[in-house]
Amino acid sequence: MISFKAFTLCWLLMLPNLVFANYIYPIQGDHFHKKISEYSYLSEKIVDDVTSVDILTLPAVQWQSRKKLTDIPHLMAGKNWLTFKVRNHGKEDKAFFLEVKNNRYLTAAKIVMRINGESAEYSPQVNANNRRVEKLNLPANSTAELFLLLTTQAEVYLPIELLSEKVYISSNNQQGFYKGIAIGGYVFLAIGMLLLFVASGRKSILYLSGYFLTRTLLLSVLLGRSNGSFFTDITWLHDLEIPLLTSISSLCLLWFCVELFSLRTKFVALTNKVKITSLLLVVYIVSSLWLDLNTNFMMSLLLHNLMTLLLVIIGWQLMKQSTPLATIFTVIMAIQFGVSLLIDVGIVWHSLQLFTNNELLFSISFWLNGFLFIFLVSRLVYLQVRDKQIAQKAALESAIQTKQAQAELLQLQEETQEQLESRVQERTLELNIAFQELEDLNKELAKKSTLDDLTGLYNRRSYDQKIQAEFRRSRRNLTPLSLVVVDIDHFKQVNDTLGHIAGDECLIWLAGKLKQCLRRSADLSFRYGGEEFCLILPETDEAGAKTLAEELRQKVSQEAVQYQGKPIQLTLSCGVTTYKQQANISVEDLFLCADKALYRAKHNGRNQVQISNLLNPQE
Ligand code: GH3
Ligand code: MG
Ligand code: MG
Repeated sequence: MISFKAFTLCWLLMLPNLVFANYIYPIQGDHFHKKISEYSYLSEKIVDDVTSVDILTLPAVQWQSRKKLTDIPHLMAGKNWLTFKVRNHGKEDKAFFLEVKNNRYLTAAKIVMRINGESAEYSPQVNANNRRVEKLNLPANSTAELFLLLTTQAEVYLPIELLSEKVYISSNNQQGFYKGIAIGGYVFLAIGMLLLFVASGRKSILYLSGYFLTRTLLLSVLLGRSNGSFFTDITWLHDLEIPLLTSISSLCLLWFCVELFSLRTKFVALTNKVKITSLLLVVYIVSSLWLDLNTNFMMSLLLHNLMTLLLVIIGWQLMKQSTPLATIFTVIMAIQFGVSLLIDVGIVWHSLQLFTNNELLFSISFWLNGFLFIFLVSRLVYLQVRDKQIAQKAALESAIQTKQAQAELLQLQEETQEQLESRVQERTLELNIAFQELEDLNKELAKKSTLDDLTGLYNRRSYDQKIQAEFRRSRRNLTPLSLVVVDIDHFKQVNDTLGHIAGDECLIWLAGKLKQCLRRSADLSFRYGGEEFCLILPETDEAGAKTLAEELRQKVSQEAVQYQGKPIQLTLSCGVTTYKQQANISVEDLFLCADKALYRAKHNGRNQVQISNLLNPQE
């Protein structure tokens, strides 16, 4: 009883829904474009058992109405049956397009159309713009019931639209055009980077071109080129495209960063982080083959987030060390990380419907990324050129400095040379003067060594030399050579009574007298030692010598030496001998003979001149 009441209540409650279930979309004019927002749908509980044949006979009560909550139909994971009506009020048949936006999760779509009790089944195909489309025909003045079966792998929001042929074609063209620009531009960018790598040979640019190539493929897949799949012939790759391309582009970006900032040499710790993330990505790429579509999406998204976050951190650390380009790089990565988070939010909270127009979002984010990287590369090139210019300038300056230094050195060398030469001249002059002085000094010394200090007469050494020379000359020239030996008488007494100084005065006085007596220039007087003197008289015979000695003796005996106002009377004894080339006579014999004569003078009473014969000195 209770169950019957409940059943009736249920029916009564459902009744108004039937009205909505019969919502009719008018198909009229050439420019209509209608989004399906009101429709009826089958509850999840029974949907699995219903076939496309059952759907036509299903009681209206089974359908639930969907009010205009959002513009976009909300589909559950699994089978979704929706129904609505279309009506052609016109008098002509009308063709229209039913379009369901394709999605990776949308695995199958089917349309059943019933007009006037007759039904037909369609399988809408994916077009170039990633829409599942079916062209349907509605006869004049008729209403059609449309039943849509959409099978999805996850809960999604998918727009369903009705379009006139004109609108379909023009929107299709327009979308194709924009996608063409978006993808084509990106292809251009990737090729540009590749050419830049060829031109510059920089490894970082190679990675960047790899990044842009994979991003081009990724964008192409995301924008639904080629039936939503790039590798149309390799069906098992379809589900892997996005995870694979995302991972490869992440790898390229990581290693671009490593090369750009020379992390391997400068920041080893950061490089290790990149290596670990790269390893994770590679492991994931391999394992993605065994994972299902959903897990792959989540994994690739997670790894992409991780990678961008890591690059933001690396960029931040490089920025703190004021590494060039680090700021731009960090900004780019921060934006990319922001977009990644936005995608995460959109996927986790899909009811927010952040990505109903995800194609536009993808295009914008990709292009923004592209522009920022172009800016980064431009800065890189600029910095490279600037560094080169600075290096060239520095090299030029250093070359100029070197040249200047060389010139200065040369000048200095010249100056030094001049200075050296003038100093050498100066020194030579000084040396010459010194040499001259030395020579004079030597002469003086030589002269002094021949003279007696007290009397200024020739000394004993001179006597020895001179007597030898004169002796030889006499022998050679056969001329007589006379020698007079002079000794002061009782001189000891003078010293003893008047002092040594008085004696010296007497010696000096006598020397003067000796010089006076010698008139010939060849005659020489010597102080032989003590108060003994010698006279060498070349070319002088015995008589001449005796006369000279006598003259001397007399002169001395007649004059007196004046010492301190007192007269000192001196007398001399002289011995004379003459060499007349007698046989077997030596120089020593000559002196001995004269000395003997002197001895005889002393012996005979002093103050006299005695002559000795060389051959018989005793006489
Ligand atoms: P004689 O008549 O026998 O020659 O007697 P004498 O006193 O001269 O004796 P002797 O010749 O032996 O003495 C030489 C003296 O001459 C000794 C010394 O006092 C003195 N005499 C020698 N040389 C110098 C000298 O350079 N200066 C002075 N003042 N006296 C000298
Ligand atoms: Mg004497
Ligand atoms: Mg004497």
